[in-house]
This record gives sequence, C-alpha cells and structure tokens, in this order.
Amino acid sequence: MATILQHGNLIDGLAAEPLADSLVIYEGEKVLYAGPWRPEEAAKYPGAEVRDVTGKTVMPGLIDVHVHLTLYGKPSSVMDFLVDSATYTALKAADCARKLLEAGFTTVRAMGDKASADFAVKRAINEGMILGPRLLTSGKGISITGGHGDFVPGDVELDTIGETCDGVDQVRRAVRDRLKNNADNIKLMATGGGNSPGPGTVSQLSEEEMRVAVEEAANRGVLTAAHCIGTDGIKRAIRAGVRTIEHGSFIDDEGIEMMLRGEHYLVPTLCAFRTIKHGPEGGVPDYVLEKIQYFATAHYTGLEKAYRAGVRIVCGTDTGTPFNYHGEGAEELELYTKVGMSPMEAIKTATSMAAECLRQGDVGVLAEGKTADLLIVDGDPVADIAVLQDKGKIEVIHNGKKVERR
Ligand SMILES: [Zn+2]
Repeated sequence: MATILQHGNLIDGLAAEPLADSLVIYEGEKVLYAGPWRPEEAAKYPGAEVRDVTGKTVMPGLIDVHVHLTLYGKPSSVMDFLVDSATYTALKAADCARKLLEAGFTTVRAMGDKASADFAVKRAINEGMILGPRLLTSGKGISITGGHGDFVPGDVELDTIGETCDGVDQVRRAVRDRLKNNADNIKLMATGGGNSPGPGTVSQLSEEEMRVAVEEAANRGVLTAAHCIGTDGIKRAIRAGVRTIEHGSFIDDEGIEMMLRGEHYLVPTLCAFRTIKHGPEGGVPDYVLEKIQYFATAHYTGLEKAYRAGVRIVCGTDTGTPFNYHGEGAEELELYTKVGMSPMEAIKTATSMAAECLRQGDVGVLAEGKTADLLIVDGDPVADIAVLQDKGKIEVIHNGKKVERR
C-alpha cells in the first residue's frame, strides 16, 4: 500500500529552496513521486494511507560518510577498542548502528573495523536480523608500522586500530583481503592523528603505497578514503587519487587547488572536536588534548577556505571517537553553518553530495525511483538546522518502513 505525505515542505536534496505544499508518495522501498502537490498524482493511489504533514518538512534520510561502529563515543572508547573482546565489539557495533538509524542517518560508511564486526553487522542488517542503516564497510584502516593505526607496543598483546602494512606488496594484499570480504571502501592512514601517540601532522603511507591501494580498489569500483591531518600527507593522498580526504586539518591553498582539479571530497569531521570541550574533565590523555587543540585552529581555517574555493564537502562526523556519541551526528551540519554554509548547503553535504561521493545513486535525493529513505521533521531545518538534532521531532522512514525507536 502506498503512503501519501501531503502539504508539507519538501527538501528534495537538490533544489536550492524548499518546496511548499508538496506531495511525496512512496510504496514498498521506492519513492513514486516527490514534487508539488497535484491532486491527479495522489488520485493514482486510491487505497493509499494519506497523511497531512502541514507544518512539517519531508527530506532525504541523512548520510554520514565517516563513522566508527567499533568505537562508541565514551571518553575511553579508543582504549576500549583495544581491549574489548571480538564478541562484545560486534554487539557494540550493532547497537551503534541502530542508534545512527534512530537519529535519522539512513546511510553510513564505517571507517575502522575490529574483528570483522562491521562486516558482520552489515550482513545482519541486510538479512533483517537487526535494525541499522545502509552500511558501507572498510575493514580495518591500513597503516604503516608505528603509524596512526599501529600504536600498541610490540611486546603488548592487544588488537590494534589498523592493519600494519609496509611497502606496496603488503598494501596490495591488505586491499585484496578487504575486497574478498566485500568491503565498500578502503581506508588509508596517510598521516598521524589525534588519538594515537606521536606527531599528528607527520606523513605516513607513501604516495606509491596509496596509489596501489587506489588502483586495486578501482578494479572493483570500490571507494578510497585517507585519514589526513598534515599538509604533505593530504597532497600525497590527492596525488595518489584517493577519493575522500578525511579531516584535512592542515590543507593549504595548493592542496585546495589539487582537490578542485580532480574528483575529491573533503570530510570535515567537526564533531570530533568535542574532545576540546569535554576532554579536560573527561580523562582524555594530555597529549591527545594538546594535539587536537593544535589541529583545531588550522582545521577551521582550512575548511573555510576550501568551502569558499568550491571544494566538494560531505558530512562525516567521526562518530565513535571520544565524546562523539552515536545519534548526535546531526550537530555536524549546524557546525558547517558556522564556517559560512547556508543551512541548505549543509543539508546537501549529508544528502545529495554525500550520495554522489559514495556512489549511492539510489539515496540522498527524493525523486521518483529513489529509495524511500526519508525524514519527516516537525519543523523547518532551513530556518533552524538544529531541529535535526532533536530526535523527538524526527520520524525516520528507512526502505519505506517507519523506524520504531527503542
Ligand atoms: Zn575516524
């Protein structure tokens, strides 16, 4: 039976302005119509459930291109990742996935696995065992020895954040291993980072190593992403052809130019800076706080420049890192308005632009033939983007079915 949503405002993910007095019709998993209210369109579905959504906004489900299901947002989440059992990690990841969906994120890309939990959660979601968003997986990040994904001393027996690879052959094997597990994306650690010891800005994987990863991934049409803090690592990743530059803190004018010349997307992950606000009392190690504070100024300056220059920016939150809880990711869009984006531009980073970035042509836009992933928002996100953070005001429809919150 079709569902008709009539007389609401429509944000379709593409148009520059919302459309007043709209009509959205969906049936099963597909959108049949999204556009101006036309009685003759509604009349095509005589048995439909008709809902008057006057005063509400209908918009595409949100997309987050950078989440962690195996980190769960607690101040200790990085240490817990290292010591939690594989079984517990899988259960944790399933819970995180459900929280993301309940908050309106209907498509997410997971960016750092442990014990194949992300692959298992994806399978369980697709088989209908558990509730979660459309999930794109990466497996573990690929890191050099001693890099951002390898910071447990060699004589300590703990799982590490990434898989350690040195040289093109090891990188190639690691990528093929992920492809064997049907990964949707390859995550590369191009530089140091905030939550690992050592300088954050230093370059790690070589351009050659990343190029091999990009080539192997491209053979199977799989995406690539690089964790990048430092200026040189950002440029290495771009030159290697990596599609998404994650964080991009110290991007400079040349890096911005390079991104504009190719098919690259910047993923700002501003929610990760919540550590600065909550970290001092939250038990975050001093070296992490110092580094993240050092990144922040450059990060905001670089992002603002990149935005003004026209770099494609897509919503990624780094959800799961300390103080970055699942279900609170919509704040990322409000933060984008603080670097100059209009609310509608910010919404597009998490809808049409993110879908284009992830090559998920069925989502991110409300139009005939697209997947019925949509939000019915009690309010107007263009007037007040913060309304998207209020789960009490958002009804989530995923694959044409209402998501029941726990
Ligand atoms: Zn991350």
